[in-house]
Amino acid sequence: MTDQGTGAGGATPPTSDGWVARDAAVVWHGFTQMAAYAGSAPIVVDRAEGRELIDVDGKRYLDAISSLWVTTLGHRVPELDAALRSQLDKVAHSTLLGNGSRVAIELAEALAGVVPVDAPHIVFASDGAAAVEQAVKIAFQYWTNQGIEGRHGYLALGNAYHGDTVGSLSVGDGGFGTDVFDPMRFPVIRTPGYDDPGWASKAIAAIERHADELAAVVLEPLVQGASGILVAEPDDVAAVGSACRRLGVLLVADEVATGFGRTGRLFASEWSGLRPDILCLGKGLTGGYLPMSATVVAGAVFAAFLGEDLGPKTFYHGHSYGGNALAAAVALEHLRLLQAWDVLDNVEARAGQLADLLAGRVAGHPAVRVVRQQGLMVGVELAPPRPGLRWGRRVCAGSVARGVLLRPLGDVVVIMPPLTVTDGEVIRIVDALTAALDDVVTESGDLT
Ligand SMILES: *Cc1c(COP(=O)(O)O)cnc(C)c1O
Repeated sequence: MTDQGTGAGGATPPTSDGWVARDAAVVWHGFTQMAAYAGSAPIVVDRAEGRELIDVDGKRYLDAISSLWVTTLGHRVPELDAALRSQLDKVAHSTLLGNGSRVAIELAEALAGVVPVDAPHIVFASDGAAAVEQAVKIAFQYWTNQGIEGRHGYLALGNAYHGDTVGSLSVGDGGFGTDVFDPMRFPVIRTPGYDDPGWASKAIAAIERHADELAAVVLEPLVQGASGILVAEPDDVAAVGSACRRLGVLLVADEVATGFGRTGRLFASEWSGLRPDILCLGKGLTGGYLPMSATVVAGAVFAAFLGEDLGPKTFYHGHSYGGNALAAAVALEHLRLLQAWDVLDNVEARAGQLADLLAGRVAGHPAVRVVRQQGLMVGVELAPPRPGLRWGRRVCAGSVARGVLLRPLGDVVVIMPPLTVTDGEVIRIVDALTAALDDVVTESGDLT
């Protein structure tokens, strides 16, 4: 196995085994079988530079999953570090419940200027799931506040992923082992996801049939990320958006994964000219620095919550750390940098380069079934000769051993590099991936 790209680790004896044991003794990792964790060669990160993570042994890994899709500009961006340090000299946190925070106001104003939502009002939280949870509750109360009865339902799509809290899990589809929670989910009307070419007309037919019972339609505009990067036609998303408008059903756009430039526009809704009533933001909001999410609500929905003080129209919901000042300061500077650095131009150029390389070297590979891509969101679906070979895991492990950090969703290898990824780094990702693909084909040849 080549050590190419793993940097300075070679001469020093590995110390990570000790760290992995300490880790497994006290940390419970999400979406991870802890009985197998220590044996699965996890990397233990100590620090980072640019787009590389550096582990406790000093080995370097290109962060080709943007630390699970959150990192936009890279790690330790001097401008973001400075914004965080200077906010520390003012205040780290003060509550938004009933009181204001200067930097949260500045961030909300900056977001209001760029989000595809009319007359936006912003409810802050800390995780994407909470942003969706808030959206679901706001949509529900929007109808009851107006004395309109029976609008308790939600329409959501097959393959949808909206987070892991009970409400966001309910609008999300099954999978990832979450079926165990099915009895906890509230029922929703579910129509097919983006893997069905007729998904939009089926959704529209269902919205027409159930309009009187629906509080909202919830969808991930353009790309269903967690289901393996399934990409829709912008016109189809637009058609579902106009059906919601025509039939008077609220549209919740979950842009937790797609927001902040990931798809090649600042927000994926823009590809379809979508103006959602409620927009959920998370992941890239702080450039990957701090946990902050936001539910952006159109003025017409917000207005339905205005009424007498302490009265029933109030939105009785709020998280302790919502609008955290440190996160807000970083998010504000991050928005400025996205524009100042013309990050979307780099997304377009690198996405084009990546598409060419994948078409030339990966799409026709015997280990690959199909490649899907939108901007810098890529899913490489593998074609294992039989089930149970865990090719997704093995291809990613082979890539990690070559200094490129990848993580699969089942047998889909996800490539989600930071938006500032360079020409050379794109090549490094494809080199590591193709070598790892060659390995599984060779190994499976040996097995048969
Ligand atoms: C990641 C994700 C979420 C959940 O965000 P968390 O911060 O992990 O709670 C919700 N929706 C989409 C589309 C996501 O990709």
